Amino acid sequence: MANTLVAAILAFAPGAIYGVYRDTAPAMGVDALVDQQRAAAIMWLPGSLLYLVPAVVIIVHALSRKRPRVALSLPVVGQARRAPWDATRVPVLGALLRSANGRLAVRFVMLGLAALVVLDGLLGPRDAATNIAGTWPWTHWRGAAAVGMVVAGNLACLGCPLIAPRTLLRRWITPTRRWPSWLRTKWIAAVAVLAWLVAYEAFGWWDSPLLTAGLIIGLLLVATVVDLLFEGAAFCQWMCPIGQWNMVMSVASPTQVTIRDPQVCERCTTQDCLRGGPQGPGCGTSLFLPRKVGALDCTACMDCVTACPHDNAGVLLKVPFMELQSEASRSVIGRWIERPDLAALLLVLECGALVNAALMTEPLVAWVGSWQPLPWRAATVALITLLAMVAVAVPVLVAARVGAWMRREAFVHRLARMAFDLLPIGTGMWLVHFGFHLVTGLSSALPPLQRAARDGAALDLGEPAWAANCCAQVPQWLLPVMLCVLALALLVSLQLAWNRASRVEASGVQRSGRVLVRWLPDALVALGWWALAAWIVLQPMQMRGLLS
Ligand code: SF4
Ligand code: SF4
Repeated sequence: MANTLVAAILAFAPGAIYGVYRDTAPAMGVDALVDQQRAAAIMWLPGSLLYLVPAVVIIVHALSRKRPRVALSLPVVGQARRAPWDATRVPVLGALLRSANGRLAVRFVMLGLAALVVLDGLLGPRDAATNIAGTWPWTHWRGAAAVGMVVAGNLACLGCPLIAPRTLLRRWITPTRRWPSWLRTKWIAAVAVLAWLVAYEAFGWWDSPLLTAGLIIGLLLVATVVDLLFEGAAFCQWMCPIGQWNMVMSVASPTQVTIRDPQVCERCTTQDCLRGGPQGPGCGTSLFLPRKVGALDCTACMDCVTACPHDNAGVLLKVPFMELQSEASRSVIGRWIERPDLAALLLVLECGALVNAALMTEPLVAWVGSWQPLPWRAATVALITLLAMVAVAVPVLVAARVGAWMRREAFVHRLARMAFDLLPIGTGMWLVHFGFHLVTGLSSALPPLQRAARDGAALDLGEPAWAANCCAQVPQWLLPVMLCVLALALLVSLQLAWNRASRVEASGVQRSGRVLVRWLPDALVALGWWALAAWIVLQPMQMRGLLS
């Protein structure tokens, strides 16, 4: 980290940091800034490689040796164990989270904002940068969802406007059908996410307020119809591509909906968090809270928090990504290593993170643009996107095949494990991508609102300052922060893969060399993905949603 951070500062500094070279370097026929950047490259690449060799040896030894575990906690005399921090016990916020009506009110506020987006998308100007539908959903809502995910939790599902109408209508219409058992699989969701990513590129959704408005109306209609026909949260659990993204990315969250005290659950006979009771409905995705691990299939709806008659459910802190280590059977999901549909969904989201960001870099935008004269442009872009997804996924499939052979493990199990271990890199890529657009396009939210208020309702909210929607300034701190996030994601992925390579040692004796060999295919894919992610963030980006 030491040489990486210093090298990053030297590489991306706008001028020569050491003033003396500004005067002396030209005398030697060298530009001081170029010289500084070359020095940074030497410090970064060969410097990191030199560190890598002893680091690998030390890690192998440190992780392989069996050492007695020493309890680090000091005895606390005469003091009760402190209750864990719980968001549902924070004044005001806790009351809002626990109240079904409070949550519904938040969703209706979001529905009002979605209605504004739809109206402007249908009636406003066709230029995305001047339309609410071209800026709010793609720049601000997505960025806020990603940043909110790592700072607080799955706020996007918690305040989702798509389920507001059905929640209200269910007070009068009770769904009677159960979602068919043969459709209880993530294959539909995996295909929906893939279709979403391909259509986004092929039809340029971000660039079309009309298509964006149509998309929101379509999702709203499907969610309402499906959830009024079928019990529970069938749309969220099995169909919604946005919900899948939110639930999977929740691995990076510092919080989760869970129980406070396992002993209270052991004594509980009603299990209202699952079945519902006098205080409210149970879990729409059939998660049984004491057996819930992580946030997969959890829509953060908080119904279980309201339903629990023992006040034993809350929003507690967790260590991000830690749940990926556990291979124990989980409520609803079962043993995830035996779920190829889940592995496929994760891989689509991970490959999608890299491809979606790569297709916004200037070199690839120019290359894809060179296909424009062809007829069937949308089909060509769709094909390019699909082929790019396959190209990113192939190394994983090859490594899974090699790893399965080396470990005498089923291919499906190996693939699922790799999909879980690579999730931090996929999450990191989505985060830096959406975070980049949020930071650079933050000020672009207001001018379209001012224009829409003036044109649509004769309201004067001030003259739109269109300069805010053009030529976004990229703050200097952003690139080093993005590189650090990606480096951190790589480390977590490598660590997860290492832990799993150590765990499957059949003989029970940890041989570091053998663990290293088993770890290598996974590590190489992780390094390759990280290198691609780092290349992407170093490219000039197409500023989608902004005036060019
Ligand atoms: S969370 Fe509440 S309702 Fe659910 S099992 Fe535990 S005590 Fe019972
Ligand atoms: S466990 Fe179920 S009821 Fe509780 S927040 Fe998650 S989806 Fe909602």
